[in-house]
Amino acid sequence: MSYQSIGFIGVGAMGKEMVVNLAEKLPRHIPIYINDVNKSATRELAASYSNSIIACDTAHEVAANSDVVLTMLPEGRHVRSVYLDSHGSISSASLCGKILIECSTIDTATNHEVRSTLQQLEPTASFYDAPVSGGVLGARKATLGIFLGCDEKDPNFETLKAVLSMLGNNVIACGGPSLGLVAKLANNYLSGTIAIATSEAMNMGMLGGMNAHVLAQVIHAGSGRNHIADNFNPVPGICPEAPSSHGYEGGFKVELMKKDIGLAASMAERVGARLVLGKSCLETYQNASQDPRCQGLDSRVVYRYLGGQEDWE
Ligand code: NAD
Repeated sequence: MSYQSIGFIGVGAMGKEMVVNLAEKLPRHIPIYINDVNKSATRELAASYSNSIIACDTAHEVAANSDVVLTMLPEGRHVRSVYLDSHGSISSASLCGKILIECSTIDTATNHEVRSTLQQLEPTASFYDAPVSGGVLGARKATLGIFLGCDEKDPNFETLKAVLSMLGNNVIACGGPSLGLVAKLANNYLSGTIAIATSEAMNMGMLGGMNAHVLAQVIHAGSGRNHIADNFNPVPGICPEAPSSHGYEGGFKVELMKKDIGLAASMAERVGARLVLGKSCLETYQNASQDPRCQGLDSRVVYRYLGGQEDWE
């Protein structure tokens, strides 16, 4: 499919950066229609790219004007409302032949509900889950991992890949509808548990007398080696660019991690996968997101939640 226009709904922390990449990379003749309940966010983007970005009042207006529509919203209830509400939603527009790409991290049940409702309303429209990984920095640098809910034989795969490659450098076809979300939730469960385990290991080693730098070197050289310990170490001062070294500002918020672990635990229950770490992992992020010392900060603030020493240097 060759598309002549693109739409984007939800221009928050991630969506804004993704829209900027589209505006920088799309040919000039392809307009970008955007919408967000936060009108100042859409106005600001439209003012910065007045030749290509058009702010719309409703999701309906975006969908009516665009051949391909992307959505990047907080939770399942927002996605359901933007796609299915009776007034001003995507489904209230004519969707004949359109491609709809849902990038939010939400539950698979809502994703399925939206897909099947759209299929009944307009069988020629195609709806895909395409959650992303890599955070705001990955969104800005267009280095996101994007987990696409289809297989490579899907008739729209080349178009999807062309659009998503402007936003990320690792677009993976996960095999079928909703499997992008299944993959994303499994990945975030792993990353969330590793962050807690890394915090616990660093804390016990430091309390046992180890210098934190040396302990991080040991983990890097040993069988505990992992991406969090190497690049996002929860202990301040180990990775100079990591949020932990900047008061845990920026990064992936503890509230988002709580949401994703909750979604992963529900998925595990639904599919009958036994989790031994799930309950304590979820409780840890739930408690940390209610702890005033941790609220609104990068999820690796679990080290602080555990009582880890921050001024060790
Ligand atoms: P955000 O809250 O910063 O942005 C969401 C945007 O959606 C906001 O601007 C909000 O105003 C808008 N919105 C809400 N309801 C709307 C509606 N009905 N109509 C139009 N706009 C509406 O969230 P974010 O950090 O950009 O995350 C978006 C999604 O991406 C979440 O599902 C999150 O889990 C996932 N994600 C986030 C990160 C990250 O590091 N922030 C990384 C990977 C995935």
